[in-house]
Formats: sequence, structure tokens, C-alpha cells
Amino acid sequence: MRPPARHREQHRTDRIGWLRAAVLGANDGIVSTASLVVGVAAADGGRAAVLVAGTAGLVAGAMSMAAGEYVSVKSQAETEAADLARERAELAADPEAERAELAAIYERRGLDPGLARRVAEQLMAHDALAAHARDELGISEVVAARPIQAALASAASFAVGAVLPIVTAVLAPAATLMPAVIAGSLVCLAVLGVLAARTGGAPVAAGALRVTFWGALAMAVTAGVGRLFGARV
Ligand SMILES: [Zn+2]
Repeated sequence: MRPPARHREQHRTDRIGWLRAAVLGANDGIVSTASLVVGVAAADGGRAAVLVAGTAGLVAGAMSMAAGEYVSVKSQAETEAADLARERAELAADPEAERAELAAIYERRGLDPGLARRVAEQLMAHDALAAHARDELGISEVVAARPIQAALASAASFAVGAVLPIVTAVLAPAATLMPAVIAGSLVCLAVLGVLAARTGGAPVAAGALRVTFWGALAMAVTAGVGRLFGARV
């Protein structure tokens, strides 16, 4: 039998899984660490205090991103495994009913009853669990849960994002530390926004504007709180 034709155009869905985690992680890293640095600087904290706060923010943020991503993806994996186990049991208990259920799914998708039944029969003869997993449960190989990969990707991208404002705080002269961190972080956020929008096929300008706006707002609010605190303490 002739092997199935190779897919020529590459769909963006292939890149969504890890890209989404990477960009969101880097975004969080820049916004939360830059805000922390700006907040401590606004409270008249010296460079040492700013760097301690920034580094602590990087480590804490990377760990919490990893933990959060691991827990959410792991529980997704457990839900998928439980669904597959239930499906396997139903297939063993009543294959006829399962065949009818699958055929009904294909009918709802537009196949006529006779063809739907034949497709269900052939796909179940080929790999019954895979057919039900894909067409009934919506579990496909492409988005299988990988908790460790997701956790590492999130932590790494958070850390990469967080390093940017910290390096800026190290290199900038003390007098211009705050504006340098703000400007540098906003430029990095805009670049990330463009990258994410372009790879995901979304409007580039809107993508860049969105992340830059929220980043600026977060830094402004934290600087305000820092200034308030600095004046009182
Ligand atoms: Zn089923």
C-alpha cells in the first residue's frame, strides 16, 4: 500500500504548545522582575538591594512557574490517562455499542450513515482505542501532556526573561538605573510580542502593544508602591 502523502504546508499548531509556554514564561519573567527592580529602586533602595530583590524574584518566579506548569500539565495527563482507561474498558465490555457511538460521531461530522459505519468499522479494526481517543475524547498525539518538558520550558523562559532587567540594573549608572530598566524591559516586551504574534499568525502591532501596555502598567504601579513605601519607611 502506498505510504500516506507527506504534509507540505506546516501548520502553526505544531509550534503552539511549547511557544506559548516559552513566550508567556519570558513575559512573566520580564514584567515581574522588572517591576520588582523598579519598585525597590523607587523606594530608594541601593544597587545591592535592587540586585538582591531581582535575583530573589528570578529564582522564586522560575520555581513557581515550574511548579504551576508541572501541576497543571500533570493533572491534565492524569485526566487523559483516566479517560483512556475508561475507554479501553468500554471497548472491551461492549464493542458494538462503541462502534455505533463512533459512527454517530462521523455522521454528525457530515458522513452519510453507511459510510460512517464503514469508516468506524475500519478505524476500529485498525486501532480501536486510538480512533476513540482521537474522535471521541479529542486526545491526539500532537498535544499529549509532557509535564516535565512544560515545567522546564516555563522555568527556563521565565529565567531568561528575568535576567534582562537584572543585567540592565547591573550595567546602568546608578542615576539612570530606573529609566534604563523600564526602557530596556519595554523594548524586550515589544520584541517578544512581535515574535509571538508573528509565529502564531496573529496581528503583530496589536501583539506588541498588548504586552508593552501591561508591562508598563505593572512597572508604574510597583514604582508607585515603592515610592510610597520608601517615603514611609
Ligand atoms: Zn468510545
